[in-house]
Amino acid sequence: MSEKAPLEKFNIKISQCTKCSLRATCQRVVFGSGSAEAQIMLLGEAPGKKEDELGIPFVGSTGRILDKMLEGIKIKREDVYLTNICKCRPPENRDPLPEEVTTCAYWLEKQIQIINPKIIITLGRFALNYFLPQAKISAVHGIILEINTEKIGTIKIFPLHHPAAARINRQTRALFTQDFQKIPTILKQIKKEQ
Ligand code: SF4
Repeated sequence: MSEKAPLEKFNIKISQCTKCSLRATCQRVVFGSGSAEAQIMLLGEAPGKKEDELGIPFVGSTGRILDKMLEGIKIKREDVYLTNICKCRPPENRDPLPEEVTTCAYWLEKQIQIINPKIIITLGRFALNYFLPQAKISAVHGIILEINTEKIGTIKIFPLHHPAAARINRQTRALFTQDFQKIPTILKQIKKEQ
C-alpha cells in the first residue's frame, strides 16, 4: 500500500477530532478540500448545513458563487485549498465561540504549515479577524496584508468579503467580484518577489 501524503494523513487526524463540543452536534468534520501544493488557500469561518452534509467546504449556493469567481480568473477549485477556521458546523449556524476557534486553530496552523500557500484569502469578517482582530473588512478588503504570526511566521493575507454576503447584497457582490479579479496579478507579483 502506498504511503499517504502528509496532508492526507493529517486530514485523517482532523476528521477524528473531538477536542471541542462542536463535534457532538455536527455530522462530520469538514477538514478542507483541494491541492496539497496550492498557492492559494481560501479560508472561511465554519461549515454550513450543506457543507456538514457533504463534508466539503463551500458548496451549495455560496460555493457556486466562489466556483464562478474562480472560473472567471481561470483557476480550478482543485488547484486551491479551501478550508475554514472551525472544521465543525456550529449549531443553528451561530458564530464559533472564541474557545472553539482557539481549540481548532491547532489544525489550521498545521494545514498552513503543510500546504505553505503563497497567499491566504480570508473570506469574510470572521476569517480576517482571526489574523487581525481589530481589522474592519470594509477598510482592508482587496488589499494584501503581510502579518507576523507567532506559530506560522510571516504570511500574506488578502481579505475579501464572504461569498455568502456577496450572494445577498448587490453592492458587496460588486466589491467581491472586483477584489477577486485582482488575484492573478497578485500571484504574479508574489512570484516575482520570490
Ligand atoms: S471544531 Fe475543530 S477542534 Fe472542535 S471538534 Fe471540530 S475539528 Fe475538533
